[in-house]
Amino acid sequence: MRLDGKQVALALDEATARRCEKLKEEGILPRLAILRIGQREDDLSYERGALKRCQKVGIEAGVYALPGNVAEEELLDLVEKLNRDKAIHGVLMLRPFPAHIRDERVRETLDPAKDVDGITDGSLAGVFTGTGRGFAPCTAEACLKILEHYGIDPAGRRAVVVGRSLVVGRPAAMLLLHKNATVTLCHTKTRDLPRLCRQAEILVVAAGRRGAVGAEAAAPGQIVLDVGIHMGEDGKLRGDTDFEAMEPVVEAITPVPGGVGAVTTSVLAEHVVTAARRQNP
Ligand code: NAP
Repeated sequence: MRLDGKQVALALDEATARRCEKLKEEGILPRLAILRIGQREDDLSYERGALKRCQKVGIEAGVYALPGNVAEEELLDLVEKLNRDKAIHGVLMLRPFPAHIRDERVRETLDPAKDVDGITDGSLAGVFTGTGRGFAPCTAEACLKILEHYGIDPAGRRAVVVGRSLVVGRPAAMLLLHKNATVTLCHTKTRDLPRLCRQAEILVVAAGRRGAVGAEAAAPGQIVLDVGIHMGEDGKLRGDTDFEAMEPVVEAITPVPGGVGAVTTSVLAEHVVTAARRQNP
């Protein structure tokens, strides 16, 4: 069975649009600021997706595009301005920044209340403690939204997460733990990864390497969430799993495209509306 991210996104968007409408009735227009430096194709593609999603659910989104050689101080000034602007509820910073920009300095300038993609330490602390302060990184949360949509309760299940980045693997592991899964977090130093993966009832693959996990990691009954996005030589998108090899073995798997990636901007839109509500209790 395929877990269809588009269906999950559709359901999420409907709920977000309703919440957005309610805010508008109260005179609050949820607004997202997208901050982009330069013209990287990955950034432009994510930006297009985010703008489309916001428009669909009724969020107003604007792009602040800065030149690739922008000075760090100018960038910090803009972030501080966005922090102060009461009409803006969420800020999405497209990263990685160019090499001359100190990532941590800029990230940590952002007000965690507006950190709708969970990049600040404040947001990540909230993910760790489970207090829900700030926001979880959208991609990590998208994994949980897919499970929830399909009625798959992680409680008591063995979950294996491949990848420990702060953007996906680590927060996904924490979110699964909060849902009472028994979580194993794997990385490049993990010994016998296929054996650990085969024991997983829920397998989240965010290794950043095309086809890093294949048939040797698959087991009947497994739910597999493939977070990876890679452009194949044939121009088709592929994930971090060997989808063709795993699909016949496992219980359910997300395709690429149309899986986790399809849900990410829906989570972003939900976060913007939540931010707008929190800022206008
Ligand atoms: P990343 O920063 O490169 O991290 C990759 C992680 O996977 C690292 O922790 C690395 O371990 C581990 N790893 C790499 N190869 C491995 C292997 N063979 N076995 C075990 N662990 C391995 O990547 P990321 O930013 O987390 O992104 C992961 C994937 O998700 C990428 O394909 C990216 O394109 C995709 N992504 C998708 C979305 C979306 O919206 N769907 C959003 C963001 C990212 P070490 O720590 O030991 O190096």
